[in-house]
Amino acid sequence: MIDPFGREVSYLRVSVTDRCDFRCTYCMAENMTFLPKKEVLSLEELEAITATFIRKGVRKVRLTGGEPLVRKGIMTLINNLGMYLQSGELDELTLTTNGSQLSRYANSLYAAGVRRINVSLDTLDPERFARITRWGKLDKVLDGLQAAQDAGLKIKLNTVAVRGINDQELSDMVAWAGDRKMDITFIETMPMGEIDELRSDRFLSLREVRETLSKDWNLSDIDFKTGGPADYVQVAETGQKVGFITPLSHNFCESCNRVRLTCTGMLYMCLGQNDNADLRKVLRSENGLSLLDAAIDEAIGRKPKGHDFVIDRSRDHIPAVARHMSVTGG
Ligand code: SAM
Ligand code: SF4
Repeated sequence: MIDPFGREVSYLRVSVTDRCDFRCTYCMAENMTFLPKKEVLSLEELEAITATFIRKGVRKVRLTGGEPLVRKGIMTLINNLGMYLQSGELDELTLTTNGSQLSRYANSLYAAGVRRINVSLDTLDPERFARITRWGKLDKVLDGLQAAQDAGLKIKLNTVAVRGINDQELSDMVAWAGDRKMDITFIETMPMGEIDELRSDRFLSLREVRETLSKDWNLSDIDFKTGGPADYVQVAETGQKVGFITPLSHNFCESCNRVRLTCTGMLYMCLGQNDNADLRKVLRSENGLSLLDAAIDEAIGRKPKGHDFVIDRSRDHIPAVARHMSVTGG
């Protein structure tokens, strides 16, 4: 699949649910209205669409959400997609998780062929953790991380840098991750979905984060590219990588190799744009499965050149993209 700007689409991110057992302040409002069940793709439908993408050339699939591991029956989907790893049609099956269910699932994930996962962790302080996630328990996530490492899964931490919340702690997190041989990626807050507070008060530029980290650590640029939005540096003292995802202050769109499927079957060709293709409608129509191929081709033909996020005080309550991150999974 080649888009109009010559970029090969080889990476599919699939949001398997809009639900979550946390309510992170930058991601969700406390009172979220979730989708009625009939609007959400069944596990079979998710598999059918993902399998079509794999047949069309996708080599990497990431499951996300909401929280992917709270979806009932999720291991069935993961095991079935794992078969494409065995057959060599897929290079990588991975997921982004908040870690709350990892103690339960780590061994099964490894057995299904998952080798690396991203775990979101914004702080190592239990009270701050409770404040950020509203409903989460830090202990549970730390136990989950240990279980994942014990099972043989490689972990990358994702940490959203939030002004006035975890900005004083980021250097400690680099140390903590380094001690455990984990890479860590810092993420700027993105203006997606209505939340309960002002985004511009919380925005922290990663340029600033990098400057602060440089006072404690020897950071050197490395040429490590994933085709994604992160710039990586090597930390001399720990030997681990630190990534910076700066969608607001940088443009990473030229190398974009991904598309995103929501749990309702909407395909977003760009995280920062509203244009989408309704693959659920196609799949649920008569002979739907046979029409998917053409619908996907048509959508890829509309993949835009880039995104246009803005956080500005005059428009603070109008998020640049109205859907929450938990819809497309980031
Ligand atoms: N629940 C899983 C988790 O937290 O890892 C997967 C879904 S979550 C939406 C994916 C990632 O998006 C997480 O690392 C989260 O911190 C990040 N995220 C959510 N809302 C965001 C926002 N407004 N700006 C930047 N990152 C955000
Ligand atoms: Fe849930 Fe992940 Fe959003 Fe936090 S960031 S509320 S864990 S979906």
